[in-house]
Amino acid sequence: MNKAFVREPDDTGQLNCPACGSLGIAVTRETWSAHVRPSVGTQLAESAFFCPFAKCQIVYFDMFERHITTGELLHGVYPKDPSAPICGCFGLTIEDVQADVDEGTPTRVRELLAKANSPEARCRTCSPSGQPCTPEVQRAYMKLRGLA
Ligand SMILES: [Zn+2]
Repeated sequence: MNKAFVREPDDTGQLNCPACGSLGIAVTRETWSAHVRPSVGTQLAESAFFCPFAKCQIVYFDMFERHITTGELLHGVYPKDPSAPICGCFGLTIEDVQADVDEGTPTRVRELLAKANSPEARCRTCSPSGQPCTPEVQRAYMKLRGLA
């Protein structure tokens, strides 16, 4: 492959999304293959990146300028699809978080945070970024409460 077409990760091993410039979250094949439709022709590298920006159509990309868009996934992923569960392991949605805010007690969020720290959580394959969803859930709760 021509060197000019290879995007080199920076010193931290990270790479920015080719579409929106967001800093990608490093994922392995174990993670991206759980979300990308097997019929999609694009083969990503063993080490690829997840674009966390909600409005960006690119979900995964690698250093060889290959990418997967939202339409090539098996299912919608949060935050690109706001109706998709925030937590891929236990299915917590933004409506659940809103219900907690409406009730004034974070029952569902608290329950999720407890479960997310248990061995039942399978973030490596259930979360599109391969990362625990807990910061995302906490951010959504703060936002809906008008605290962030
Ligand atoms: Zn992006």
